[in-house]
Amino acid sequence: MLIKKGIAASLGIAIGKAHIVKEENILIEQKEIPKDKLKAEIKRFRDALGKTKLDLDAIRSKVLNVLGKQHAKLIDAHHLILQDPLITKEVPKLIVTKGVNAEFALSEILDKAEEEFEKIDDEFFHERKHDLFDVGKKILSNLVNREKVTLKDIKEPVIIVAHNLYPSDTLHIRESNKVLGFCMDLGSKSSHTAIFAQSMGIPAVVGLSDISRQIVSGDTIIVDGEQGMVIIAPTAEIIEKYKVRKEELHKQEHFFLRLKGLPATTRDGHKISLMCNVDSAEDAAELTAIKSEGVGLFRTESLYMNRESVPTEEEQVKAYSAIAKAVPHLPVTIRTPDIGGDRVTQLGIKGLKDERNPIMGFRGIRLFIKYPELLKTQLRAIYKSNTEANIKIMIPMLSSLDELCTVKKIAQNVKTELAEEGYAIKGNPEFGVMIEIPAAAIILDSLLSEIDFVSIGTNDLVQYTLAVDRINQYVSELYEPFHPAVLRLINLVVQTAHKKGKPVSVCGEMASDPYAIPVLVGLGVDILSVPIKMQLRSKYAVRSMNFEKFSALAQHLLSLPTAAEIRRIIEEEVK
Ligand code: PEP
Ligand code: MG
Repeated sequence: MLIKKGIAASLGIAIGKAHIVKEENILIEQKEIPKDKLKAEIKRFRDALGKTKLDLDAIRSKVLNVLGKQHAKLIDAHHLILQDPLITKEVPKLIVTKGVNAEFALSEILDKAEEEFEKIDDEFFHERKHDLFDVGKKILSNLVNREKVTLKDIKEPVIIVAHNLYPSDTLHIRESNKVLGFCMDLGSKSSHTAIFAQSMGIPAVVGLSDISRQIVSGDTIIVDGEQGMVIIAPTAEIIEKYKVRKEELHKQEHFFLRLKGLPATTRDGHKISLMCNVDSAEDAAELTAIKSEGVGLFRTESLYMNRESVPTEEEQVKAYSAIAKAVPHLPVTIRTPDIGGDRVTQLGIKGLKDERNPIMGFRGIRLFIKYPELLKTQLRAIYKSNTEANIKIMIPMLSSLDELCTVKKIAQNVKTELAEEGYAIKGNPEFGVMIEIPAAAIILDSLLSEIDFVSIGTNDLVQYTLAVDRINQYVSELYEPFHPAVLRLINLVVQTAHKKGKPVSVCGEMASDPYAIPVLVGLGVDILSVPIKMQLRSKYAVRSMNFEKFSALAQHLLSLPTAAEIRRIIEEEVK
């Protein structure tokens, strides 16, 4: 038996067989090709080039439809690379002179080209290197003729073990419906993969450094999403102990069910709104079942992932309407997507794949401002879905008033366009911004006249305030929501917004942390928006606290210099 300590990313316990997910690397073997088979080998290579050309044609027409001519030029450049003598002449030459297989010859040529590129100190040529490898990888996959196996193909109940899973992989996990839990080498509690696991109610432990190399498929393991541990080859006694704990957690869930429909009011009568975070239209049924007070955050990224075309207006209307109609008398806050960062898409958006630091890069509203057509389509769909007059619009990753004004101008144009088409928008959706970048918190007073509400995205706010990448396990111990700088920024946002009578919500993971809830409510936060699975637990935390006591305590915490002291006091006060 071996116990590995990691980061508890999603509550619950899973006991089962491990299923290892390997990284997608193509292994190139050198094979000798007999003289009389060389012609056939060259033909095999030319066939792969033909298939790659067809792949590029298909990608080009998608990019052209979705992103326009300018961006389709990138694929034109890839077509040119495919016809470059380096590929069409040098590779067949090497197959013949060395008598080797096409995969090996191609990878040799690419390696040589890389050496040459390294010698050139020029941005343009560095870009071309990425394009060349992109095309090279496409040819290689056609040569090895590999079908991509995804997690949605899993048929037996298993626990997934991986070096890293992307948020898009977790969507496949939802589709497969067979994943009991997962654990991975990388990641932190607030990485998007962990957030998806929470919203699906799948136990998960991340940041385990090398677990994917310590287990083989079929090993029995326990994922303890409460303590942040993975137990490899547990004894019968330990399995029994965990079965008991699993049952206890189940009973706890049952106990919390009694809170369904009750208000989120503190013991001394202070009422806050407790809303839910949702990821897709599929959450509509659960949202109703749990009697949520509305949706504080609809993450729309999942509509844009695991596909090569952007969602159409109609498709989006369907998704947004499903949620808006599930809670017709309650607010539904739809966030324009924060794609980019660790939420990669296959939409062919140039730059996303090659970013040196994607977390600080091309993501959120920055990306949608650069691609206004995508923003327009989404806004049209949002306005059309507002049949219950309960939708609000929210912008992620905002850093300046200029960005806000640009988005509002686009929104105004979309409204005018719809009016001209004879479409009457029901109600006038409120507009809000997420406070995720410290700059937005600091200049909030200048933003308030343009918006109706603010929502603090603490996952990103902690990351950017402390300069700690939220998915990097090497610095995960520095990711500290109770850092004094974070609490002081939250206080600044609440105070500034309340002066102008605008409500403040928190929709990051802090909002469902039982230790953070009394502090946030004590600081004056009006709305907490939490994963559906955490809603009743969070309500329990609100209903167990005393508002007056924690208002005074929160003010005291603001004066403390270290997270350690703040944590010590909170842990003492929150039992
Ligand atoms: C946040 O940053 O806190 C947030 C809610 O946004 P996301 O986790 O989707 O980046
Ligand atoms: Mg965020």
